[in-house]
Amino acid sequence: MRLAVLSDIHANLAALDAVLADLDRSQAVDAMWACGDTVGYGPQPNEVIARLQERGARAVMGNHDGAAIGVVDVTWFNDAAAAAIRWTATVLTDASAAYLADLSDREEEGDLTVVHGSPREPIWEYIVSPEVARANLGAYATRICLFGHTHFPVLYAADDGGVREVEAPAGSSVPLPAGRLLLNPGSVGQPRDRNPDSSYLVLDLAAQTAQFRRVPYDIARTQRLMREVGLPAWLVERLRHGR
Ligand code: ZN
Repeated sequence: MRLAVLSDIHANLAALDAVLADLDRSQAVDAMWACGDTVGYGPQPNEVIARLQERGARAVMGNHDGAAIGVVDVTWFNDAAAAAIRWTATVLTDASAAYLADLSDREEEGDLTVVHGSPREPIWEYIVSPEVARANLGAYATRICLFGHTHFPVLYAADDGGVREVEAPAGSSVPLPAGRLLLNPGSVGQPRDRNPDSSYLVLDLAAQTAQFRRVPYDIARTQRLMREVGLPAWLVERLRHGR
């Protein structure tokens, strides 16, 4: 069983298509997961949702997804994020809104629990350290938790009562440590780790390996579309810097 794990696509179709092309070139997968924030920030929410549906991807709800359909409070968003959510809400088709409304904030399948933020706070908590990861071990029952939200790729492994971060350089397959794991594929559509390339993860449950991958995409195209629809300049600019 080999899985493609995507997160925080944020309505960036050029980035998603680059990731899918990279996947098609490099390896076949049996399933695809999206760990939330499929929309928000970016210029093509309907197109991104349609693409995930074409690919049979499964997904959970992120804070931006819920905000775009009015089920998550936008009070906690910064001004630019909130402006992008208001724009997104005006362009979502009925079909896209129904797709987002159907998303659960937590899914479980086999060895996997899938959330956007964290198992104990699926919409809002950021898992930003081994300590926060450790504090979440009791909040899910499976071996593996897939999450997003921080826009930073990371592999955490439970170890001797603690959690440690496991080195997993992009492009190389690393063996999965035995025991319980939490993995964040990084962001497809708005990377924030000072690398503007899209980030995603291929998880091979048969071979027990994880491979983080980085993929350049046509950033200028996404930026042009964002300017055309009047999305905030700071959101346009940050894509270039990956932060
Ligand atoms: Zn996000």
